[in-house]
Amino acid sequence: MKRIAILGSTGSIGTQALEVIGANPESFELEVITANNNADLLIAQALAFKPNVVVIANEALYEQVRDALQHEDIKVYAGANALCAVVEMGTVDMVLTAMVGYAGLQPTIRAIKAGKEIALANKETLVVAGQLITDLARQQGVNIYPVDSEHSAIFQCLAGEFHNPIEKIILTASGGPFRGRKADELRQVTRAQALKHPNWEMGAKITIDSASLMNKGLEVIEAKWLFGLKNEQIEVVVHPQSIIHSLVQFEDGSIKAQLGLPDMKLPIQYALGYPNRLKNDFPRFSFLDYPQLTFEKPDLETFRNLQLAFDAMERGGNMPCILNAANEIAVEAFLREEVGFLEMSDIIEGSMAKVAYIANPSYEDYVTTDRETRAYAAEVAGKLSI
Ligand code: NDP
Repeated sequence: MKRIAILGSTGSIGTQALEVIGANPESFELEVITANNNADLLIAQALAFKPNVVVIANEALYEQVRDALQHEDIKVYAGANALCAVVEMGTVDMVLTAMVGYAGLQPTIRAIKAGKEIALANKETLVVAGQLITDLARQQGVNIYPVDSEHSAIFQCLAGEFHNPIEKIILTASGGPFRGRKADELRQVTRAQALKHPNWEMGAKITIDSASLMNKGLEVIEAKWLFGLKNEQIEVVVHPQSIIHSLVQFEDGSIKAQLGLPDMKLPIQYALGYPNRLKNDFPRFSFLDYPQLTFEKPDLETFRNLQLAFDAMERGGNMPCILNAANEIAVEAFLREEVGFLEMSDIIEGSMAKVAYIANPSYEDYVTTDRETRAYAAEVAGKLSI
């Protein structure tokens, strides 16, 4: 029986994780759930799943949540500090980091320091501070289990192979809703078009990242840290059907792949249940339904964000932190319809050129870099505003 804390239970990953936990009461016990603003859903989840602790990050909503749960044996807390404190509770075995963005960094650090196993969905944490997080996890003897479907695929391919060196990994990318389009056609695409992903239902931020291929860029950096790879060992291939979730090539040339329908519940369940594969009734993949699995080279000229992520990884230091912060600001501005789709790359590239580079950043350096990049990127976004 694993006792689980879900950071971000009201999001796309969080709600699917609750389905997995609800379907496997003999394997999992829900200890903590948290949300940022969606108090109504958090309350409904608390009443349905009866965790021991609920945290609402937005303190203005504390009373609403507390009053709604006053007749339950559930503790209610509010604020970002509470979010960090609850992951340290003795009753928590594993923390599923399903918050979105840089906000996931601090609670993840606190959970690792407290010796909790991590099921990591919040890829931004490893992008911003991969060295710091993986060093800390090693020191604490904490395992980080990937939730991202591509990284779960690689992890599954590596089962039983940990003594065999990897030659390279191949991360697959769906290509998003704008696959095959050129820059001229992308200039005018709307928020609504970018939010229509062909294969996956996800939160707004990652959906925009998928459309711009920044999501793949963040995943490249995430993979580097999760699997201890050199930059040149990571390749990206566009695979529009999203059936092969990623591949590993070993030193004898043999390639292993993990396949399945695009459904995040499977990688979530694998991370929570590791090392066990739990029986479920999720829809099964059939080759006959997909007679053509196809592959293409990513277009790095049109989808500049992927190239920028490769560049940031190559520079190392705080450059991926700059990339991430600028991207978060750019995506927010695009979602508010203040900047165009292609201008997101301008904001990121400008920030990478402007914000001070630090080769060996400390935690405090990441905090400063994040703050400075957000300020600069917001200024650029303001000038570009339509
Ligand atoms: P969503 O936007 O759907 O959900 C985000 C969750 O985090 C919500 O519970 C939200 O609360 C909470 N949250 C957001 N900001 C804060 C904050 N500042 N403080 C505290 N809580 C916060 O995101 P997704 O579920 O799509 O993604 C979550 C993470 O998982 C991301 O890092 C993403 O890249 C990664 N991921 C997602 C996949 C997917 O299929 N969705 C696939 C692979 C990885 P509220 O609802 O109250 O706003």
